[in-house]
Amino acid sequence: MCGVKKRKFWDHRPTREGVESKRSELRNILHDEWRRRLTQPYAGLRTIEAVRPVLSEWLDRKYGVITFRMTQVLSGYGCFGIYLCRIAGREPTSACHHCDSCFEETAQHTLEECPAWVEQRGELVAAVSSELSLPTIVRSMVESKRSWHAAQAFCDEVVVKKEAAEREREDSAPDPIAVGVWVAEGELMALQLPT
Ligand SMILES: [Zn+2]
Repeated sequence: MCGVKKRKFWDHRPTREGVESKRSELRNILHDEWRRRLTQPYAGLRTIEAVRPVLSEWLDRKYGVITFRMTQVLSGYGCFGIYLCRIAGREPTSACHHCDSCFEETAQHTLEECPAWVEQRGELVAAVSSELSLPTIVRSMVESKRSWHAAQAFCDEVVVKKEAAEREREDSAPDPIAVGVWVAEGELMALQLPT
């Protein structure tokens, strides 16, 4: 025997209060960091305006994953005419390919206006509101699991269809358009769950 008394592992076991205090401290650090990040210019203004008012609720929520296709709709970086034409250079015009009335297709047009997605929009309207501005949707998502799932289902289903339509256009184009970068890294960072 070496005579050294082994320290019991529970000698320094933290108390429940200690754990909660540390957790609260880390949460505050995390929130401050995300508030700082949301002041950076790399994150899209539309996304910032939607998330910043409910940042604490967004970070503290107990449900809801962010899929790649949700990120496209929330950030506007994805299969929308204005992005594909002006930023990615993959389309000759910014017009919506799914209706005849939109010459500048944005993510918001897809979310709120495009008649092609009336059916997919039904549950989103029922869960959130008939007013589907991004701040309204994001606030509802953090307040209601149903809204979160409705937004996720809308984004996933619609973007899958838009991606398929885009592939068809590329396949039928005489000179295939080069594949570009789909989502700006900064936009993704602004939306990811804390780890
Ligand atoms: Zn449209």
